[in-house]
Parts: sequence; C-alpha cells; structure tokens
Amino acid sequence: MFCPKCGKEQLGDESFCRYCGAEQALPGGAAGATPSQQRKSATGFVVGSAVCAAIALLFFPPIFGVAGIVLGYFAFRRNRLAGTICMVVSGICMIVGVVLGLWVWSIT
Ligand SMILES: [Zn+2]
Repeated sequence: MFCPKCGKEQLGDESFCRYCGAEQALPGGAAGATPSQQRKSATGFVVGSAVCAAIALLFFPPIFGVAGIVLGYFAFRRNRLAGTICMVVSGICMIVGVVLGLWVWSIT
C-alpha cells in the first residue's frame, strides 16, 4: 500500500502515513463512500422488477415472476422499502398469472 498524499510505501496497517501524517485509505473504509451510488442504481432494478411482474401476469408467470423477485431482491439490497414492495408485487403477479393461466387453460 502507498500513501495517497506523498506516495511513499507504507509498512503494516497504520492508519496514518509515517512520512507525511496523511490518513491512509484502508480497504474497509472505502465502503462508506458508496451508499449514494448504490441508492441511485436501485431504480433500474425496481423498474426491471415492475416490468417482469407486469409480463408475469400475461406470459410465463413462473419465469417472469421469479425474475421479478430476483430483481426485487437486488433492489432490496440497495433500498429495503422499494425492494420489499417489488418482491411482494412480483410474487402476487406470479400467483395471479398462474391462476389466470390455469383458468384460461381450463375453459379452452
Ligand atoms: Zn504520506
């Protein structure tokens, strides 16, 4: 690991540079800088999950319903409320899609 300020190599896991005193970027410390990016990217999974749920009502509910739940789970990892709603909506759409499919299949 090298100091981001003075560029000298650091020995061990010191929090501060032994040459210039600058704080060292530890691998675990970088996680704090990403929540805003992660929250932003949840939108794509929410939209994808909603599209899969809508398709699941009409076509191949087991496939698109599961896809919607999986996308909802990815959204959940970034935004718990939106992800939970996505997984519940996808699950309902999958069940409704299966029931509709069986009903259509039974009357034809
Ligand atoms: Zn330094």
